[in-house]
Amino acid sequence: MPDRTAALLAAFEKSFNAKPEGAVRAPGRVNLIGEHTDYNHGFCLPMAIERDIRIAWRKRSDLMVRVVSLEQDGVVEFPLVTPIPHAKEKARKWADYVKGCAQILIDASVDLVGCDLAITGDVPLGSGLSSSAALEVASMLAFLAAAGMKLPHEEIAKLAQKAENTYVGTNCGILDQLSSACATQGQAMLMDCRTLRLTPAPLPAGVSVVIADTGKRRGLVDSAYNERRAQCEAGAKALGVLHLRDVTMHGLWHAVALGRLDATAKRRCEHVVAEDGRTLAAFACLRAGDAVAFGELMDQSHADLRDKFEVTCAELDGMVTIARSLPGCLGSRMTGAGFGGCTVSLVKDEAVKAFVPELEKRYRAEFPGMVPAVYVTRAAAGAGPLKI
Ligand code: ADP
Ligand code: MG
Repeated sequence: MPDRTAALLAAFEKSFNAKPEGAVRAPGRVNLIGEHTDYNHGFCLPMAIERDIRIAWRKRSDLMVRVVSLEQDGVVEFPLVTPIPHAKEKARKWADYVKGCAQILIDASVDLVGCDLAITGDVPLGSGLSSSAALEVASMLAFLAAAGMKLPHEEIAKLAQKAENTYVGTNCGILDQLSSACATQGQAMLMDCRTLRLTPAPLPAGVSVVIADTGKRRGLVDSAYNERRAQCEAGAKALGVLHLRDVTMHGLWHAVALGRLDATAKRRCEHVVAEDGRTLAAFACLRAGDAVAFGELMDQSHADLRDKFEVTCAELDGMVTIARSLPGCLGSRMTGAGFGGCTVSLVKDEAVKAFVPELEKRYRAEFPGMVPAVYVTRAAAGAGPLKI
């Protein structure tokens, strides 16, 4: 049994004086390309990563939920009676992701039962690898397992997104939850954020995905993210559509020529429309096994996120520039919402061993005081039961 699962079981027994009945896991994700497109009903190309949230569960005979996290202090208790109260103290806010899932399941008329839950995770918090979505999807699975119920994973993803949107109050799109709930091992997946259709595609042979955390943190319940969403919505309205997914570059420039968009709106919309095209092209590269062309699209994506969508920062730009200067790197870009967090790079297998320490070393030299972390990951399986 892996150490993390053993530690989880030990913590469960210590906290609740009993063995768990079952356990579940839900992975974090990295988006290879297709950024700030999900809430525009466009395309993304994520994969699940080999880091996850694990939850051990045991039914109770009452309607109480008790929850502990190995990464947080204290036990949080709440009754399954709506409305479930939010955390009063900041130190207990992590449990709102769990409470939000219970609330949304109750709202969806699922008959929940009380349970004890122990959580552990190795998805870094707040770095754009979706620890929050992993926590929500795992919580959904744990509540459903305790209640002896099953739901389709696409439905679980939608309910988890609703929990984050309405209970936690973060206006995220569907990308994170759908990736965590529905990923396929060994595959990236083209995600159509309108239809929620997922089309898996393997990564080209001979290349690795390398994630580099800049160490810079910025929460998502953040004015800049909401501002970008509002700008996209306003842009779509000016262009006469509900979502930027339905705009072509030609249509966009036509509207610009007619004076319907100001300079900022033009830049924002140009990124989204181009990014959708790049994501579809990147998917075609996966199908063709063309890692070089895929890497070029990643570079273009970063350039637009920096210059047109303006969601990068010195640390993200620096990490990407250093990565691109190293041997064997085929492409590099920021991943996640931006303003901090992680980059993702495509690196030739034979170069990875030297790439990882060199990237860390050069980044530390350029950004003194920042603590980077570099992970090489394969595409992991989506959420499901965990053997205990
Ligand atoms: P991201 O999803 O990019 O990691 P968010 O800010 O959306 O960042 O979500 C991070 C939050 O998720 C944390 O602040 C914490 O509340 C919660 N969380 C993540 N992992 C855990 C964990 N192992 N235990 C408890 N809470 C967690
Ligand atoms: Mg999140």
